[in-house]
Amino acid sequence: MDKKDLITLVLPCYNEEDALPYLWEALNKISNQMSYVDFEFLFINNCSSDNTLKMMKEYADKDKRVKYISFSRNFGKEGSMYAGLSNASGDYVAILDADLQDPPELLIPMYDAVTKEGYDCAAAFRTTRKGEPWLRSQLAKVFYKLENKISDTDVVNGARDFRLMSRKVVDAILMLGERERFSKGIFGWVGFETKWIPFENVQRVAGKSKLPMSFAFKYALKGIVAFSTMPLEVASGLGIFSCLLAIIYAIYVILKQVITHEAVAGYPSIICLILFMGGILLLMMGVMGRYIAQIYIEDKKRPIYIVKDTNVDDCK
Ligand code: UDP
Ligand code: MG
Repeated sequence: MDKKDLITLVLPCYNEEDALPYLWEALNKISNQMSYVDFEFLFINNCSSDNTLKMMKEYADKDKRVKYISFSRNFGKEGSMYAGLSNASGDYVAILDADLQDPPELLIPMYDAVTKEGYDCAAAFRTTRKGEPWLRSQLAKVFYKLENKISDTDVVNGARDFRLMSRKVVDAILMLGERERFSKGIFGWVGFETKWIPFENVQRVAGKSKLPMSFAFKYALKGIVAFSTMPLEVASGLGIFSCLLAIIYAIYVILKQVITHEAVAGYPSIICLILFMGGILLLMMGVMGRYIAQIYIEDKKRPIYIVKDTNVDDCK
């Protein structure tokens, strides 16, 4: 008999003790449905303060398909995903949230897409953002429009990190070893053929979201800085624009003096110009500061995650 394909499911978890029993049930269900493949369940514990790690260890004791990696502190969902991809031994690797917002049954069409339909990767996107706060959806819409306009990388609105990838895609993603990671951009940047599978937004099965809106906002900024240098180009554009304005204004002042011999009232216009220029300069210094901060962080080459406890042999 031919050897079955192995799919590694990377499961990032941060304080998910409430959701884990449901997840565990769903994992067993999908692995029974997809009995034509083997599974490896790679739980990543992002230094949870609840019973998440204990539960992972219990699962590992009763099921040898379960692997876990536990971090020394919280390295964010990005750290979890990178650790998962680095240590996955599957022929195919999928990333799945622990709260069942990524329906496991989609793994079936995803696997078909990469094995039968010639795709390298299959990813899920939400057709609606039902149940999400209105402001968050609107800001997300603006962000995706902007990001796609100013960078060469496609980031799909509604796309989740939920995707099944072939080994080639995983290896390509791992080649991008940047510390400040924006995976939604990285997935697009590496290329390959992706099949997009739509689904209706689902609420998390239990517990609370660990990624508040303030995080989403910072994450969006990170995404722009990581995948586009357009904001820096805007700086030079604005500089040229304000120089032109100044020249036009100077010509106006000279002509007025020559033609009407009236003294030019200078005070208000000078204040306006100073405020205008000062504002632009500060804004642009802030933009440059973000890029310099990024260089600083990347240059330190700190690890993306640190493992404290694991049952993975030769854990990277
Ligand atoms: N998560 C993580 N580390 C964190 C925050 C979140 O591993 O620092 C995990 C979390 O346990 C979940 C997934 O990432 O499995 C998505 O998080 P969450 O559901 O809180 O985000 P949302 O779906 O609300 O954007
Ligand atoms: Mg969630």
